[in-house]
Amino acid sequence: MRPTPIHLHDVVISGAGPVGLFLACELRQAGCSVLVLEAAGDPSSPLKHPPFGVRGLTVPTMESFDRRGLMDAIRDRATGRDTLGTAHWRKQPRRPGGHFAGIQFFHDQIDGERWPYRLPGEVGSVAADMASIEAVLTARAATLGIEIERGREVNGFDPSDEDVVVRAGGATFRGRWLVGCDGARSAVRKAAGIGFAGTDPEFTGYSIQVELADPGVLEPGRHYTATGMYVFTPPGTIGLVDFDGGAFHRAAPITRSHVEAVLRRISGTDVTVTALHLATTWTDRAFQATEYRKGRVFLAGDAAHIHSPLGGQGLNLGLGDAMNLGWKLAATIHGHAPPSLLDSYAQERQPVAAQVLDWSRAQVALMRPSRSSRALETIVRDLLATRDGATYFAERIWGLSLRYDLGDGHSLVGRSAPDFALADGSTLNEQLRSGRGVLLDFDGRSALRDVAARWPDRLLHVAMDARDRLGLGAVLVRPDGIVAWVHADAALDETELADAISRWFGAA
Ligand SMILES: Cc1cc2nc3c(=O)[nH]c(=O)nc-3n(C[C@H](O)[C@H](O)[C@H](O)COP(=O)(O)OP(=O)(O)OC[C@H]3O[C@@H](n4cnc5c(N)ncnc54)[C@H](O)[C@@H]3O)c2cc1C
Repeated sequence: MRPTPIHLHDVVISGAGPVGLFLACELRQAGCSVLVLEAAGDPSSPLKHPPFGVRGLTVPTMESFDRRGLMDAIRDRATGRDTLGTAHWRKQPRRPGGHFAGIQFFHDQIDGERWPYRLPGEVGSVAADMASIEAVLTARAATLGIEIERGREVNGFDPSDEDVVVRAGGATFRGRWLVGCDGARSAVRKAAGIGFAGTDPEFTGYSIQVELADPGVLEPGRHYTATGMYVFTPPGTIGLVDFDGGAFHRAAPITRSHVEAVLRRISGTDVTVTALHLATTWTDRAFQATEYRKGRVFLAGDAAHIHSPLGGQGLNLGLGDAMNLGWKLAATIHGHAPPSLLDSYAQERQPVAAQVLDWSRAQVALMRPSRSSRALETIVRDLLATRDGATYFAERIWGLSLRYDLGDGHSLVGRSAPDFALADGSTLNEQLRSGRGVLLDFDGRSALRDVAARWPDRLLHVAMDARDRLGLGAVLVRPDGIVAWVHADAALDETELADAISRWFGAA
């Protein structure tokens, strides 16, 4: 018998990790009622703090946070904890821009001319720890009045044509929609019967904090050896990759003696671990959900895709899912979404994740303890030392290559909108903080104002010049900051603009 709890939320979200929290904020800001169910009673974990909790934020993530007024808070908290990496790179003669399987590239190699629609200051990445990110998102959720029920593990649901009844922690909850943001082993994905397809692991990765009898035995830095890879940051922070087919991950407790044995084998030294303070394992398993939606159920974040942490993309991918799904689901709930809008979530996000999974697989190929991988490493190292090579890798790693296929049109369509500095001192990102789309009209044409006025609740008409227009006349920007239409050289076609608005914002 299907229990029917009385209170109906627009959306129930399983999982209060960063993706679930960010999605909840997106939906609530757009006027939807949201309930977040989180399995853990207490979100805190030493693994969410530096050094292992540090996550690199890509440009799309920083832009999303800035478009919701959260980036300053994240920067402030992260800087306070010195996780922005600035103290580290200031000590180096060159500022590192990122890495591919540990091979670094530097900011001074990058050719910014390749990105004609990037304004100065819009590139690079920053690092922030998970505890800070979750704290900022939790504070935002509290400000918006979002309900988060902790200690409620979702273990099943019953969908109908109108709603989904969710079972969690001995109680039932009801939402028009359910979104699984419940991580790699997502209960929602499993209960929905959504497939998870990909490649099995080749290695077990370790992140450990130890005390060593003699830290001088290990060479600081990253080392590929005949049996794997280790990264040593004195006095006792170590990353290890052991090509055991992923056999050890979650198979047994991580003990001091096990860690010492693996470290000795991989480093080829007789290093002695006297104490093990913190340890976690991970693998290079790369899997993706075969569907991102089944009826009234969606997946986002690690629930939809997992891969090794190499290159640090997982969180960014998940936050990108949330930014993409939030406004589309809200528009559907409010009844003004065009019919294809919800389908565009998977159409846009699945290929992005597939690319990231392949990016992480390519790094695994380079890390294998084999002669062919060392030969590959030499070639990639040479390529990364060139301006073209470093720019290519930066574009991928910083997330600048992100472009949704929105059909033919200007090369900016489908990409993130530049953060134009506007004549009144505001920026485009600030204009997007209302959660509405923006029609940016540098010449303040009355014809454009009249078109935009047909969608007053969904679209903000910003008639203002910019410090640098980048050669553009007008730009239609979706609530997630993606450019949907551009007016550049050709004669202004108001019908084309109205069509573009209807495509994303529904009928006027
Ligand atoms: C060592 C390491 C380093 C990494 N480095 C980076 C990096 O530099 N950059 C980057 O972008 N990414 C990185 N990642 C990946 C990143 O941490 C994840 O992709 C990100 O945390 C995913 O967020 P999420 O909200 O989807 O899932 P999670 O963070 O896993 O959150 C899921 C939440 O759901 C809850 N939950 C689980 N099951 C249930 C249930 N049944 N019911 C209710 N709640 C449930 C969990 O308790 C948790 O709070 C790294 C990962 C690791 C392991």
